[in-house]
Amino acid sequence: MHDTVIRGGTIIDGTGSAAFSGDVAVKDGKIAQVGGKAGPGKREIDADGLLVTPGWVDAHTHYDGQATWDSELAPSSWHGVSTILFGNCGVGFAPVRHEHHEALIGLMEAVEEIPGIALAEGLKWDWESFPEYLDALERIPHAIDFGAQIPHHPLRVFVMGDRAIDREPATADDIAEMQRLTRQALQAGAFGFTTSRTSSHKTLTGEMVPGRYSEVDELMGLGSALKGLGYGAFGMNSDFDNETEELAWMTRLAQDTGRPVWFLLTDRMADPQRWRRPMQAVHAARAQGAMVTAQVAGWPVGVLLGVDAALNPFSIRPGYQALLQLPAAERLKRLADPAMRSQIY
Ligand SMILES: [Zn+2]
Repeated sequence: MHDTVIRGGTIIDGTGSAAFSGDVAVKDGKIAQVGGKAGPGKREIDADGLLVTPGWVDAHTHYDGQATWDSELAPSSWHGVSTILFGNCGVGFAPVRHEHHEALIGLMEAVEEIPGIALAEGLKWDWESFPEYLDALERIPHAIDFGAQIPHHPLRVFVMGDRAIDREPATADDIAEMQRLTRQALQAGAFGFTTSRTSSHKTLTGEMVPGRYSEVDELMGLGSALKGLGYGAFGMNSDFDNETEELAWMTRLAQDTGRPVWFLLTDRMADPQRWRRPMQAVHAARAQGAMVTAQVAGWPVGVLLGVDAALNPFSIRPGYQALLQLPAAERLKRLADPAMRSQIY
């Protein structure tokens, strides 16, 4: 008798072979049969007309807050995702001191469009260090697996206080302390470290995120926390202001640490062939034995757009810039003016 039998679904087994129909049986927590007709199960699931696939691994999510209060991790779990990674783009909620709770909520709201009110209601803040945050995550059961990464911006604010918010350069002592805490987080179970160096990530008041202008020294210093561990990765979302320099230090970091260094491969309207250059750098790095990887979205990146949101279809148009500082209601009023609209287009 199997524990679970999934009957009659269309099976995509993840090996690259064509889909086929049949049963999937699970016994003692392991897959016992894929395809054909399985014997009876204690639990039988009718999958007629449905796809049966391995669980998806979503390497880029921002469940840092939700995972502390939501066992379901919805909507990812509803759609066949069985593992998520969060702590991406340098944003998250640990390490943190009491006085910066609101600032971190504001950052997540501004960067990822996660409503601040939901975060303020949901976050219990029963942690300060990153290992304590991992303990808080463990306190509730979760429907799917997850990995948490230590994000640069909270770490910078934790170590440097207001100097991080003012985006001052990190001193050698700051870097040493951030490196120590990154190492501590990795040893406690963090999957890696992430940062973002993109101007599309701003705080609610329109300021750049605390690590936006971090120097290469700081990034190399933090990244070297991965050295000798045998696990963990360094991830980044960058505008590639200086492509050659950025790709060179990423290659160096991957070489020095022996660990993967990944970045988000994005495109720019004004430079449609841009993606080819970082990809060339990835191939060159790999040829030297450096594990540099481009993270590519398998689907267009989903963002919330709105007059009241951080982004909308007009926000990159020069003619819209004058409206950015106005409250949403005032923006709408101005957008009703045909002269204003023609100026934006
Ligand atoms: Zn992200």
